[in-house]
Amino acid sequence: METINDVLRQKGSDIYSISPDAAVFEAVKLVAEKNIGALLVLDKSEQVVGIFTERDYARKIALLGKDPKATPVRDVMTSKVMFIEGDKSIDDCMALMTKHRFRHLPVLKVGKLVGLVSIGDIVKAVISGKNLLIDQLGEYIVGNS
Ligand code: AMP
Repeated sequence: METINDVLRQKGSDIYSISPDAAVFEAVKLVAEKNIGALLVLDKSEQVVGIFTERDYARKIALLGKDPKATPVRDVMTSKVMFIEGDKSIDDCMALMTKHRFRHLPVLKVGKLVGLVSIGDIVKAVISGKNLLIDQLGEYIVGNS
């Protein structure tokens, strides 16, 4: 069974973050620069105080006509962050994302933050798992194994 730790080994454990006091404009700039969809919001003591995603920008800034340069991240982030343990399965992760209707999950290992997975990472892992199975079945059919 493939776990979230396996996914992190493939994609790396970079975590991009921003301060709750930063302007939303800075958050959107970082998201665009890094080509990602979400930032963890960390306070001065590096504690997770929220998560900010492009959807927060779309719904709480763009749609309401607010100024991203004059609005701090803390005003639009989600404060109650959900995490997943790295030893959980890909199916557990998809179930959580589907149930709560979000596409990002920070990953914990024994209570410590070790990465962040997106729905894109999960879809990629599922597809490569299927390709591997197809290759193995192909080998089996032609009798090479
Ligand atoms: P997303 O689909 O990930 O762009 O996020 C949709 C909404 O859920 C946004 O308001 C996010 O701030 C929020 N959100 C995303 N990921 C999480 C998470 N792991 N825990 C709590 N809220 C989240």
